[in-house]
Amino acid sequence: MVTKIKSGALMGIDGLSVTVEVDICRGLPGFFLVGLPNAEVRESRQRVLAALRNSGVKLPPGKITVNLAPAGVRKEGASYDLAIAMGVMAARGQSMHRHCLQSGEAPLFLGELSLFGQLQPVRGLLAMVLAAAERGDRLVIVPASQAWEAGLVPGVRVVGAKNLSDVIHWWNSGEEPVMESASEKAVRYFPNSQPTSVLGLAGQPSLLKAAVVALAGRHNVLMVGPPGTGKTRLARILGASQALLEPDEALEVTRIHSAAGILAEGCLMRRRPFRAPHHTLTKAGLIGGGTNLRPGEVTLAHRGILFLDELAEFNPSVLDVLREPLEEKKITLARGGGSCIYPADFQLVAAMNPCRCGFLGSGIKPCRCTDSERRRYLSRLSGPLLDRFDLFVQVGAWEGDFLKEGNQPVVCAPASDWRQLMTTGCWPDLQRATIHCPAMKISDKAKHHLNLIRQPLGLSLRSVHSCLRVATTMARLDRSKAVEKTHVMEALEFRMENLALETLA
Ligand SMILES: [Zn+2]
Repeated sequence: MVTKIKSGALMGIDGLSVTVEVDICRGLPGFFLVGLPNAEVRESRQRVLAALRNSGVKLPPGKITVNLAPAGVRKEGASYDLAIAMGVMAARGQSMHRHCLQSGEAPLFLGELSLFGQLQPVRGLLAMVLAAAERGDRLVIVPASQAWEAGLVPGVRVVGAKNLSDVIHWWNSGEEPVMESASEKAVRYFPNSQPTSVLGLAGQPSLLKAAVVALAGRHNVLMVGPPGTGKTRLARILGASQALLEPDEALEVTRIHSAAGILAEGCLMRRRPFRAPHHTLTKAGLIGGGTNLRPGEVTLAHRGILFLDELAEFNPSVLDVLREPLEEKKITLARGGGSCIYPADFQLVAAMNPCRCGFLGSGIKPCRCTDSERRRYLSRLSGPLLDRFDLFVQVGAWEGDFLKEGNQPVVCAPASDWRQLMTTGCWPDLQRATIHCPAMKISDKAKHHLNLIRQPLGLSLRSVHSCLRVATTMARLDRSKAVEKTHVMEALEFRMENLALETLA
């Protein structure tokens, strides 16, 4: 007898539909798995047979053939185990209880089996259930520990089971397994509190200002300064101060992290991601790919921050591939017979030392590098990459009584507006406003000034746009109705230092 069971597969960060066909016929006993399975999937044969046996199912004598369709797609992972086991059940002639099919829809089975029949979680479950819902599937059977994840998808009935026996019992009687704790089924939405503030930056006014502008407008920032001046700390503060994700964004980001297998259990991601990969990162690690088409750091940082510490230590050819996602907000990965597109809308925050020894122009210690060493160090960063930073921040030695910070923050910024912004912590709203509505009127004076200064500074068209974006954020922070000349001048200040670095290189 031949039966068909619905299941799903993960391709990168997207879910695919897979049909498991099982045929049992007379012949020499054996279990054959076809349909382009990889080694991991081929092993499911042993898992499924042991799980069925240990769940009290008597296997029929004869030849069992399992086909995973479509045959053209390479199958990987262990998400088909449950579907294969239920396919064998059905092929023995045991039909599903009518109560299982409340509205006539065939269920979708997802889950890995242990030898004892326990259901184990699978990577990328959310993507698979989302894809199933798009195709019109309304009933999914998943591991109990992942019922909450499947429950994030609207309009889908979720049955969570701890083991194969529960699923078989449900199949035969139509009775859903009882969830032990409410948390297995419920989705937890936390943390819900808005991020607080960047108060920890007392004593570094220019840094504080750059931090607020960068946060409010999600601008790309490059921080340059000697070691131990708080560049990494600032990046972490930026990461923690990002506005919360909107509900649809949260689902998108959660799906990506689920596909990468790094999702914290039991909660929808509300915080924007903060990714800080090490400088030994490879190209595939950065943009994704490899045989399994895993998402890279640029995709994992989607809607959040990608922090590259020690920027000049990264392999220049690895950094070069950042240009596409920075421009397009997505990354196209070539794979056999086509290409796939992953989202990569991230804010780039980078930090580096001014030279190899780290003390050039610091006033803390004299620089020990030779001229050629300095040039070689900076030449690791290409002009086009530097051009994509909107804000350039020189981080110096800490001034004032910084040991006190945290207790009684002293903000030395000249404009009281900044301080007000710090204490009200209203940049999440500004950030949201900037993300969703970038257009703002630019005053004639501001345009005129930019036109005047463009040529002598040698600003590219991209630099002009980036400058206008920063100026727009500053205008918003000032609650101004239009972008004024002062905003453009301030934005250019952050840019000038960038130009200085480029000429050095
Ligand atoms: Zn040096």
